[in-house]
Amino acid sequence: MLMTELLAKKRDGERLSTEEINFMIDGYVCGEIPDYQMSAMCMAILFRGMDDAEILDLTMAMMHSGETLDLSPIRGVKADKHSTGGVGDKTSLVLCPMVAACGVKIAKMSGRGLGHTGGTIDKLESFPGFVTGISEERFFENVNRIGIAIAGQTAEVCPADKKLYALRDVTGTVPSIPLIVSSIMSKKLAAGADVIVLDVKCGSGAFMKTPEQAGELARGLTRIGRLAGRSCAAVITDMDEPLGFAVGNALEVKEAVDVLAGRTEAGELRELCLTLGACILSLAGLAEDETQARAELERTIEDGSALEKLAEMVEAQYGDKRAVYDLSLLPEAKVKLEVPCERAGYVGHIEAEGVGLVSMQLGGGRATKESEIDLSVGVVLHKKVGDRVEAGQSLATIHAADDESARRAAAALRDCYTLSDTPVERAPFIKDIVR
Ligand code: URA
Repeated sequence: MLMTELLAKKRDGERLSTEEINFMIDGYVCGEIPDYQMSAMCMAILFRGMDDAEILDLTMAMMHSGETLDLSPIRGVKADKHSTGGVGDKTSLVLCPMVAACGVKIAKMSGRGLGHTGGTIDKLESFPGFVTGISEERFFENVNRIGIAIAGQTAEVCPADKKLYALRDVTGTVPSIPLIVSSIMSKKLAAGADVIVLDVKCGSGAFMKTPEQAGELARGLTRIGRLAGRSCAAVITDMDEPLGFAVGNALEVKEAVDVLAGRTEAGELRELCLTLGACILSLAGLAEDETQARAELERTIEDGSALEKLAEMVEAQYGDKRAVYDLSLLPEAKVKLEVPCERAGYVGHIEAEGVGLVSMQLGGGRATKESEIDLSVGVVLHKKVGDRVEAGQSLATIHAADDESARRAAAALRDCYTLSDTPVERAPFIKDIVR
């Protein structure tokens, strides 16, 4: 078999067989197929597409390029959640304890933040003493005993995806649905859960800019998940502005705890977690329908069991669980600076990526994988899209390590806001659910 033949086939819109896809991925991972041929293949796939059988073959080939997790020693239904990436996305911190309190097992491998997006693992490390690098033995023991563990990736999962993603990033081939689907699903399938829910972000701060593109991606992800024998659903949600109010590690933990403690009555974060959680409970067979599932999840907030589950997880991963009940024990920035609005109006748009960059530049995110981060810094938004704002009213509070970085961040944050003179209607936050 020759890579040049496979390239010619895909260029001409033909389909690749299972053997051809395996040959290509194996050859690329071991270095026999060079980057220039793989780049040409990614571009050919971007233009010519792939059918479901090809995408499934590509997903499985990438999944088998590395280690896979066998969750069978864990009793009960195991669930996982994935988000296609956003700013202020603290969903896992709320959703996972809620569904675990309902009896679904959460054995989750999560990542660190890079660039303007945050990572669940960094956020959890805001709890003093919390260890994300627990042993596999401890990970399994915790899930069996308390129903939940969230740890950093230890196994060498999907090396093919790591290599391919880096190549796509510099060859203009990230926005190809078959390549995104196989990239995401290879990692999710390798992580071993029976039930997978996907939060597909849509809008200016997301990969998928329109509901049509997001819908296509959501349908592709769920189809491949089902073809691989897992139960899958996807929720399409708005990412035209950051999710919720806080952006920054400890600040996001505080917002998540407020939702779990029932101190936040409504809002998009709570709504998203109820929607994703209802999908998980239904797919896991623990609720008859959506209404019953939502009632079960709401009960975990009202009776305190979701918050208790978070505290149990923090303690089981060597953290100080008192911080779950006393947020003053979380890292706190030295400087807090309000960002006053220069004129009156209505908030028309908040540049999500820009807010993520402000938090990163304050020290809350990494420029490279090796960078140290400051867990205490970030931004808390007070005004969201559609809100009325008066001149001089605060748009947001900057949490910074020093006055100089706070001042710089305040100027940059102001530029993330676009004001309108006329009232602005918010687009629906949950755009669609693909089951
Ligand atoms: N997230 C991934 O993991 N892979 C992609 O290709 C895009 C988003």
